[in-house]
Formats: sequence, C-alpha cells, structure tokens
Amino acid sequence: MNWNGAYSVLMHNEHTSHHSHEAQSHDHGPGRTVERTCDVAVVGGSAAGLAAALQLGRQDRSVIVIDAGEPRNAPAAHMHGYLGHEGLPPSDLVAIGRAEVRQFGVEVIDGRVVDAKRDDELIRLALTGGSTVVARRIVIATGLVDVLPEIEGLREHWGSDVIHCPFCHGYEVRDRKVAMVVTSPLGLHPAGLFRHLTDDLTLVLHGDVEADEPGIVRLADAGVRIIDGSVARLVDDSNGSLVAIELVDGTSLDVDAVAVSPRFRVRAEPFSSLDLKMTDDLGLGRAIETDQTGATSAYGVFAAGNVTNPSAQVLNAASDGALVGAFVAFSLATEDLDNEATSSGNREDWERRYEGDVMWSGRPNPALVDQVADLSPGTALDVGAGEGGDAVWLAEHGWAVTASDISQNALRRIAAVSSERGLPIDLLHADANAVDSFGGRAFDLVTAHYASIPRTADDRAVHNMIDAVAPGGTLLVVGHDLEPMRQPIDTTTASRPFDPDAYVRVDDVRAVLESNEEWSIVVDEIRERPQADDRPNHHIHDIVLRAMRGDG
Ligand SMILES: Cc1cc2nc3c(=O)[nH]c(=O)nc-3n(C[C@H](O)[C@H](O)[C@H](O)COP(=O)(O)OP(=O)(O)OC[C@H]3O[C@@H](n4cnc5c(N)ncnc54)[C@H](O)[C@@H]3O)c2cc1C
Repeated sequence: MNWNGAYSVLMHNEHTSHHSHEAQSHDHGPGRTVERTCDVAVVGGSAAGLAAALQLGRQDRSVIVIDAGEPRNAPAAHMHGYLGHEGLPPSDLVAIGRAEVRQFGVEVIDGRVVDAKRDDELIRLALTGGSTVVARRIVIATGLVDVLPEIEGLREHWGSDVIHCPFCHGYEVRDRKVAMVVTSPLGLHPAGLFRHLTDDLTLVLHGDVEADEPGIVRLADAGVRIIDGSVARLVDDSNGSLVAIELVDGTSLDVDAVAVSPRFRVRAEPFSSLDLKMTDDLGLGRAIETDQTGATSAYGVFAAGNVTNPSAQVLNAASDGALVGAFVAFSLATEDLDNEATSSGNREDWERRYEGDVMWSGRPNPALVDQVADLSPGTALDVGAGEGGDAVWLAEHGWAVTASDISQNALRRIAAVSSERGLPIDLLHADANAVDSFGGRAFDLVTAHYASIPRTADDRAVHNMIDAVAPGGTLLVVGHDLEPMRQPIDTTTASRPFDPDAYVRVDDVRAVLESNEEWSIVVDEIRERPQADDRPNHHIHDIVLRAMRGDG
C-alpha cells in the first residue's frame, strides 16, 4: 500500500461536487473531527520542526506539521545569534518558516498532539478536539519547558531582564549590573562568559552550591562578588522595571539583569506509549535519545531540536531539523525502493477517497451557474472535477466539457452519470501539478472550484490552468475566503482540521494573472454563502475570480 497520501477525510458533504477538501473546509471551525493521512507528521512547528518540514516538502512528500504555537523563546522580544536573522522577533522567524514550507504544499495546522500510538508500521497521532493524523514517519520537534527556580517575580521578567544564555542575550546586558542566581553546580557553566561581558557580576549561591567549590573560588579570585544566600524575590520600580533582588535575610542588591539556569523538561509526554528511550539526567533534565540521523528507539519516530538537545540555540535547532528531515526523506525513499513503490501518494489518497460512498449532491456550484450565464457555450475544462456536478451541468447547458481529475475513481463516477444522462463528457486523468497536465489543449472556459491542489513554489498548477484557456476565453476560479480559518484558536482544546494556505489559493491565481498583460480580471469578489440551519459553522464565504484572456 502506498501511504504517500494527503487526505483521508471521513466526512460527507451535501452541497457541491468538486474534487476539494470542501467536506472539511466548509465547516471551518476547529471543532470538526477528521482523520488525515500523510507521509510525515511533524509535531512542533518552530525552528526544528519547520526546517525538517521544508526538507521533506521539497522532496515532494506529503507533510502535516501540527503546532501548538508556544515556542520556547516566545517570552523574548528578539532572537539573537541566528545568522541572517540577527535581532528578528521570534514570531517572525516562525511566520517566515510557515510561509516557506507552505510554498511546497506542507500544511501547518494549529493544534496539539495529545497522544501517539503505533498502528502497525504507521503512527497515529491524536489531536486536541478529536482529530487524528496517521503518518509513516513522525518527527518530534516539541522543544522543552524551562523549569525556573521558585523565586517571586522571576517568571514575570523571564525572557527580558531574566536571562539564561549568554549567547542569546549576554550582549544586551554587557557592562550592566548582573546577578547570576546559581542553583546547582551546572549553573556555574556560563559564569566565565558573563564575567567577560560585565565587570559588575555577582554570584548568588541560591541552591545546592558550596562557596568553597574550586569553581567559585576561581571566580572570586578573578573579582566576581560572591553572596552565599537565598534570593527571596525580584524587586521592580514603579514602571515594572527590574531594579534589585532581595535576599531572604532582607539584604538587597541593585541589579539590571538576572541570569539563571533553569532545569529542562522536554515535551515528550504525548509520546509516552511509544516507549522512547531517554538520555540520562546529567543535572538539568533528560532528553529524547536519538542516533546521528535523528532516529529514536521506536521505528519511524524521529526527533529534532531542543527535545533531543536542550542546549541547542535556534540556529542549531533549525540545522538539526534540516538534517533529520533529510534522513527521514532517505528512510522513506529507501522503503519505497525496497517495496518497488512509486511515490504517487496524493493520487492514491484521492483514489481511496472516491472509493466509498458518493460524497456530493451532484448539484453545480452556485458561483459557476451565476458566472457562466452570460457566456456562449463552447469548450470547457473542469479542473478537479470530482464527482462531476459542474461538468454535468455545463454539458447540460451546451458546453463541450472535459472533466479532469487526479482520481480515476472520480472520473469513473462522472462517466457513469454522463452515460446515464446521455451527456458527452470527455474525461482527462490529470494531476494539475504535473508538467503540461492538460496536454497543450485550449478551452473557451477553464473552471476550478475549491480545487485542493497542493501549492508549488513555481505555481505550476496555476500556469497549467491559465495556459489551457484559449485566446478570448475565460478562467473562473472559486475558493474560500480564508481569513476566518486563519484566526488563532485555543490549541489546548481544539485543532484545525487542515491548512488552507498549503493549497493553491485564489490569491495565487490572481497574482499570476496580474503579472501577465494578456489577462484582465473581470470579477474579483467575495460572495456570501447561505448558512444552512443544521450546520452552524457552514458560513464561510467564497472568493470568485473571473478573468479573460486577450484575443491576441
Ligand atoms: C527566554 C528565551 C530566549 C531565548 N533566546 C534565544 C535567542 O535569542 N537566540 C537563540 O538562538 N536561542 C534562544 N533561545 C533558545 C531557543 O528558544 C531554542 O533554541 C529554540 O526555541 C529551539 O527550537 P525547537 O524548534 O527545538 O523548539 P521550540 O522553539 O520550543 O518549538 C517547539 C514547538 O512545538 C510545539 N509543541 C510542543 N508540544 C506540542 C504538541 N504536543 N503538539 C503540537 N505542538 C507542540 C510548541 O508549541 C512549539 O511551537 C531562547 C530560549 C529562551 C527560553
């Protein structure tokens, strides 16, 4: 069996008839439950996860990234030490990464994995809200939680005036009054670096560290002030800026910044039933153990970034993700080779989808009926025709229709309807993302409604569609207004069913048309969809884009 699939959708939709993820997307609320399949599920969509996903998307693998939206460095305003992105806000890096992976059809779902189970050779992930993702491989890139010492006021300043890493934020506190709150011998590790960055460094021996330890004596000899006493709280001025630390004995020390060494708790709980081997705790916490390829002790399960190396900065986490992504691609390719399978997963998945019951109503999409009313019938190509509601309607209204789809099963359904009604519909088995997918033919009308075609960086499917329009002909593309589907959700209780930005959007089509003088856009509007009483979330609006190709 080829598992290189994109979707296995267990829902039914009564309203349209196209090859689309309509069944999921119309009920766009995060409450909808779906089962998805893919080659690789990446859990955690920050530096490590997105870097792995980029490698895999560029290997033409179907990838779903599930991300709870809580990267470790979120409390910090700026990210430092990342070549090419020095000083960037952490959320900007994630936004850039998401946009980059989506160019290759990788989905990034806002959601949270709560459980992982083996299902023969596959891994089945349970998400908040009840959906599941089934994958041949998973990459765990969930990072870690910093467990801070229990000191009043510490968490409030974490990521700004309370820092842990001299490479991340040491430069920003150079020459300032810095107190290092040392809670364990390992906490002494960065002391030499901080001593170089400032002449005003105080070590407060808050925890299990003796003042006569050689490491401390050495620092004292080099001019570092040592205080043997526990910290009670951090003190702010009236603006909320950190100004001092107060010790339990009541003494106070003026500071501009505090350095601490938190313990690490890697986010591995959802994967506990996979029995992953963990590293030993060398003082700051345990991590998921991997080999040099990122493979864990469980078949098909890989890990990258802080979850396997807590000391990795962002650049290292991304680098690790890229490396592990490459090894996951190798492992899939090798398995396919051994099975003598070809990687036609997207097609395979659509075949499975159209194996079951009839999914659609057979009615045409209302936007098609509206927009085609003023055109004289000629030749028409329906891209992603699905079960053929639009193609049948066009044929009934005098068009010479070619219905194209990636799924042979879908085309068989269209053939059955067209022969039953005596309608001459040509069938074209085509992947809209293939090279020259419509065979160089030209049509008076090319139409695509909610076509779920994975995006590619070169907009191949869009070019294929516009190239198939004859001079003087019309292109009609209808998609969802995606804005409501981009709103943040609470991932502790819900997960989005899919990522519409990973599929060819009306925006992509518009951008290509606008850069081409041959084309003029005739209609570009949001069209309200009627809300069905029995489906309260079923109200997402359509974007209708109609364009004409010049006669020239
Ligand atoms: C305050 C602070 C400031 C820092 N500043 C810097 C800096 O300036 N420069 C630097 O190089 N490094 C910095 N770091 C280190 C940096 O945060 C890490 O190197 C980096 O975040 C590691 O990337 P990662 O992808 O492994 O994990 P993370 O960035 O932590 O990402 C993990 C992702 O997985 C998601 N996730 C977790 N569990 C689940 C789940 N069950 N389901 C779905 N998603 C899940 C999380 O929500 C998160 O989005 C800083 C760290 C801290 C604490």
